[in-house]
Amino acid sequence: MGEKIVDNNQIVIVGAGLSGLTLAERFATVANKKVLIIEKRDRIGGNCYDFFDKHGVLVSKYGPHIFHTQEKRVYEYVKKFADWEKYEHQVSSFVKGKLVPIPVNIETINLLFGTKINNGEEMRRWLDERRVKGIKIPMNSEEVVLGKLGKKIYELMFRDYTKKQWGISPKELESEVLARIPIRYSFERGYSSNKYQIRPRGGFTKMMEKMIENPNIELRLNTDYYSFADNIPSGSKLFFTGPIDEFISYKSGKLYKLPYRSVKFVFKSFHKKYFQKVGVINYPSIKTKMSRSTEYKYLTGQKHDWTTISREYFSGKGEPLYPLKSFESKKKYEEIAKIVGNLKGIYFLGRLGKYKYINMDQAILEALNLFDELYYGDKKR
Ligand code: UDP
Repeated sequence: MGEKIVDNNQIVIVGAGLSGLTLAERFATVANKKVLIIEKRDRIGGNCYDFFDKHGVLVSKYGPHIFHTQEKRVYEYVKKFADWEKYEHQVSSFVKGKLVPIPVNIETINLLFGTKINNGEEMRRWLDERRVKGIKIPMNSEEVVLGKLGKKIYELMFRDYTKKQWGISPKELESEVLARIPIRYSFERGYSSNKYQIRPRGGFTKMMEKMIENPNIELRLNTDYYSFADNIPSGSKLFFTGPIDEFISYKSGKLYKLPYRSVKFVFKSFHKKYFQKVGVINYPSIKTKMSRSTEYKYLTGQKHDWTTISREYFSGKGEPLYPLKSFESKKKYEEIAKIVGNLKGIYFLGRLGKYKYINMDQAILEALNLFDELYYGDKKR
């Protein structure tokens, strides 16, 4: 159990992304505490930031963000800040000149291999003949897919897509990365099978603005933590959601560097209702440089005469969007984690603060749990 925050301490949160804003909202609303949020960018929302482009189309600056959760608690929490509607996200993968469903389902197999599989049992039998045998506990991301889907599907849909996204082979990635993608022994088409699959009308930025509508919260945009740190009153509790390696380097005076993946997004607008057949198309071939193409109107439900897409090109340079979960980075992170363990009065959270490949709902849940631990302590809620 974490220590309890004493009443006079100010709460300082570095980073106005989903993790930081959730925590700010809880401290300001529930604990009635003064919260200062410091954000380097000129806007809130972190990498979930969305906005209306010059044609009035709602787009996401950092690629598709889909909200889905199994956690009732997270659902009940987000409900307060937006008007939500149901949304089942669908993704297709462009393989052998065809658009096929991903996650792999019965239709994917039928389209790619000319089979006439009708039900889950037949699919299981078909896959059983093709799965690589002897992989009880997959030791890396390659084994995850080989053990579930076999070599052919691995090569067609996962191996090169993963190389483009992460810059390394699935063999070098922890199993958790490719374990994110399930298999469907049915014709089910949705990307997620979570209980709550919803989208906020008007977008995520609007929701996040609502979260911090509270006089207890002060937001300082365009403020770099490292230049501002001397102004933070001593005794403040610090919650840091930026890249943890940067912070530890700053604190320790020794350089620590973790690998991240960044994305170059190329946006294009068209004066037509729709451009592509589904919201997201993945391009798993190494011959196509882009990894994915997203048409936002499918994701947001917006009706408009114009439509905007973004094409994604992964890179090791640029703003960190994804922590690279390889065996090599694991060792580097463990070194950092040892130092973190000895720091007092500072908490790390979010994708960059924890160096974890988490989804939006997990970021929210983690912040809610941290708040509960600090505020309620052992007290009954
Ligand atoms: N992936 C793949 N082929 C695909 C989609 C995903 O090989 O068509 C791999 C890729 O390595 C990716 C991982 O599966 O990092 C998880 O995919 P997810 O859709 O969750 O990635 P995100 O939306 O977070 O980029």
